[in-house]
Amino acid sequence: KKKSADFDVKRAVYWGEGERVPFMFVAKALDAIKIETGRIAMTEIACNLLRTVMETTPDDLLPVVYLLATRIAPAHEGLELGIGDALITKALAETFGTTQEHLNKKYKELAKDLGLVAKAIRSSQRLMRKPEALTVLKVFDTFHLIAKESGNDSKEKKNNHIKTLLVAATGCEPQYLIYLLQAAEIVKQVYSVIPEYDKIVPALVSGGVWNLPKACSFTLGIPVRPMSAKPMKGVPEIMEKFQDMEFTCEYKYDGERAQIHYMENGSVGIYSRNGEQNTGKFPDVIAAVTRLKKPTVTSFVLDCEIVAYDREKQKIQPFEILRKRARKNVVMSDIKVEVRIFAFDILYLNGQLLLQEQLNVRREHLYNSFQEEPGFFQFATAITSNDLEEIQTFLDDAVNSGCEGLIIKTLNKDATYEPSKRSNNWIKLKKDYMDSIGDSLDLVPIAAFNGLGKRTGSGFSEAVLEELSASLRSKVIPKPKSYYRYSDSDKKIIPDVWLEPSEVWEVKAAGLTISAHYRAAIGIVHPVKGISMRFPRFLGVREDKNIEQASSSDMVADMYNAQKNIQKDERDENV
Ligand code: ATP
Repeated sequence: KKKSADFDVKRAVYWGEGERVPFMFVAKALDAIKIETGRIAMTEIACNLLRTVMETTPDDLLPVVYLLATRIAPAHEGLELGIGDALITKALAETFGTTQEHLNKKYKELAKDLGLVAKAIRSSQRLMRKPEALTVLKVFDTFHLIAKESGNDSKEKKNNHIKTLLVAATGCEPQYLIYLLQAAEIVKQVYSVIPEYDKIVPALVSGGVWNLPKACSFTLGIPVRPMSAKPMKGVPEIMEKFQDMEFTCEYKYDGERAQIHYMENGSVGIYSRNGEQNTGKFPDVIAAVTRLKKPTVTSFVLDCEIVAYDREKQKIQPFEILRKRARKNVVMSDIKVEVRIFAFDILYLNGQLLLQEQLNVRREHLYNSFQEEPGFFQFATAITSNDLEEIQTFLDDAVNSGCEGLIIKTLNKDATYEPSKRSNNWIKLKKDYMDSIGDSLDLVPIAAFNGLGKRTGSGFSEAVLEELSASLRSKVIPKPKSYYRYSDSDKKIIPDVWLEPSEVWEVKAAGLTISAHYRAAIGIVHPVKGISMRFPRFLGVREDKNIEQASSSDMVADMYNAQKNIQKDERDENV
């Protein structure tokens, strides 16, 4: 067994000052860390590695840190690789020209470790020509490309990216490339079921990434990160997307997301979209689910929407009414705003996690486990149809009964519950998409202008403006954060004050345009220009979202592209 003193980071690989850091350097350091057992020795190697990078090529420090942390971007950008072992195996077989059978055999021989398989197969091959050395930057950039691929042929494109890395990898590089590809995915999956770094980090340190799924599994009382939906503009588009697939349409209720956990001892936990405790806010919900679960049900996790409800008039109330409800320590007898629960999914039942089941199976469990009670607890209204007219009518019915629109979900294929994911398998269709851009954006204010300015049609009332500026005044910072992207090309748009990012505003626009002055989504739809909003209107503060959950650059770009396609379709039709 080697000692850390035997591994001299500085001597492991040489490269010239200012040249990009070779990936081999990181791979060798990881190799040295892997055989260590003591935390101090591991940390020492990692520190030496970072120090060497800082001294020689400081520009590469960031990609090195991200790779070591098995991330490819800050959490709030929501980038994920979206690859599994099946895709990695395919890329391995194709790169090294081996058969699936041979890979499987090696996989069994080598303790089911795909990294070791990659290394063994690569080292058994004679290279005609030494490939050009891989750099950390190349690996990092390719991981980004993998994460950004979407659409029907994304698997094939991801596969090709993995292959370009593998052909250039030698020595222990293939092993660590595979580990990094797998690790990012494992940590992400575990996090989405147990979103608690307090649990994940100690488990990572003591058992390593491969034991993580075992060490950190789902626990009743810890909310799963909820699955969310992608916006689309109209029923025809959705029908086209889901051709040949069975799908179901549900009312999209306009209330508050609630994940309800019922433990075997009869206690109940209710969690918001953000995973915050909402148990004290809804004693009536606790009473209803306890009363309406069937006797065979001993534990469950329900995914629901809680809406304000006028029981006398039997009418669903708008979201604003629900906001009036007190948030903590609510006592039954004090409740003024009544609520109604619409359950649309079940994630756990009687000790069994159901995330991997298809929606039709989960739904069956849901319907069999509860008794409906009109006005108190019901299943989300749903139809399964592929008749365009029928769906249009269903959408109108939804809107007429006080809902925002529909959520359309795959039913028996590609229909598992995908925690924390804005999934392609849940599509939201809102009535108001039809008259402006696809969806509102959730934005974080980072700067402001003093004075009243022009605000006709901006959505701010006098009172709201007063309240917002009072809350933001305490957030003023002397200079912009290093990661703010802005342009000083036009003096008119240089703000008077910069702000600490602190809250999320829902803003709706009449459209999105390419702009030389604004920087949102720069580099995605245009190499040097960003995207700006036409006639933005403030809709409200999203108190249920934290800044990490604001719309990402990719979402802005997707929305811009969707709008472009729609405009193009309209133009084509006019021609
Ligand atoms: P929005 O502002 O449109 O609600 P969002 O980002 O908060 O967007 P999305 O995931 O995009 O949330 O939209 C789904 C949300 O709709 C869920 O978080 C949930 O609160 C709500 N919802 C209402 N009815 C349903 C339903 N039948 N199935 C799933 N979600 C539903």
